Amino acid sequence: MIYRARYVVTMAGAPLEGGCVRVRGDRIVQVGALDDMDSRGETLRDIPDAVLLPGLINSHCHLELGMARGLLPRGEAFPMWVSRLRKALEGAGPEQYRQASRLGALECLKHGTTTVVDVGNTGEALKELAELPIRSFPYLEVIGLDPALAAARCADAETRLAAAPSASDRFRPGVTCHAPYSCSPDLLRRVAEAAGLRRGPYTLHVAESAEESAMFREGRGALLEFCRRIYPALEPRSGESPIAFLGRNGLIPRGSLFAHCNHADAADIGILAATETSVVHCPRSRAFFGHGGFPLAAFRAAGVNLCLGTDSLASNEGLSLFDEMAEFKREHPAATGEEILAMATVNAAKALGLPGELGCLRPGAKADLIAVALRHHPEFDLYEEIVAEARDVLMVMVDGEEVVS
Ligand SMILES: [Zn+2]
Repeated sequence: MIYRARYVVTMAGAPLEGGCVRVRGDRIVQVGALDDMDSRGETLRDIPDAVLLPGLINSHCHLELGMARGLLPRGEAFPMWVSRLRKALEGAGPEQYRQASRLGALECLKHGTTTVVDVGNTGEALKELAELPIRSFPYLEVIGLDPALAAARCADAETRLAAAPSASDRFRPGVTCHAPYSCSPDLLRRVAEAAGLRRGPYTLHVAESAEESAMFREGRGALLEFCRRIYPALEPRSGESPIAFLGRNGLIPRGSLFAHCNHADAADIGILAATETSVVHCPRSRAFFGHGGFPLAAFRAAGVNLCLGTDSLASNEGLSLFDEMAEFKREHPAATGEEILAMATVNAAKALGLPGELGCLRPGAKADLIAVALRHHPEFDLYEEIVAEARDVLMVMVDGEEVVS
């Protein structure tokens, strides 16, 4: 099958006007002009006034929290948000979490996201993601400040993972810790070590809020009090940032994927660069909470690989990465359209250890691609137009299979 559109944005070279993508099985075999292709016996599908793009990659979400959509007010302190979220989820059973995960995955597909890095506590998302035609890195998240429970928590997660559907190219489950403030150092160490044995990166929420910074740097604040209500014997970890704490204790496996990092300073960014950690920015979730401004210029200068995520529907109104890219552009007008699109494509593929396989349209890559409606004005930059606003997605392909068309 050959797909032809007004433009093909490959993220592996300049956009192609009137370009084609030839797909065989689950792979892209050729990208270029129709005249240069071996098109004998191939079906040609024209999608005029559209742009073909690599399928987008959401590098941080929590699909199972979908039932909290629209229920939590903006701008509250993080501990209060956690309390409200717990209340909103009261009474929810496995079936509700499973349905929320399913609806969330379908919403991602509808908006052109073909790969998700999903984090959940219940494990229900794994059952759905294994069955749905979306590529996923679903993580079982563990939490626990009491060091005496670390071994049991870790073992329990590994048991649940072993009972999950088996891993494949399209479904790569793993275990992760929630955050350095909600897990004991022993639990962080055990999970990070186990992550090294699997195919996806180690992922963690880090340096998200001012409260987290105060807890680590100054040994005080609302988040510390909140954590002490859960585990009264918690020792304050004062004097360093959460990233410095992780780095000093050898708790950042090379090639990790850290969500947020809104409050990373220059020293933190140096640690992330040295460990080749990728950072997932979640622009609309950051704005929802009012967390500190994402230090884009410093990350860029240090060469940190940056990705995009939606976070959950408990702190975002939707799961579209087009909306996320548009928000990022509003926050950082100096960022180019190409740079922003890279965060949702090639950069994310690199973070997942699959450069050249995902996030780009080139021979040999997985046939994960989308067509979006866009009547390009040649006087404008095509990338800028793509990231400027929400887009209608006309076709979504995962592993060479059209799943939305
Ligand atoms: Zn999150």
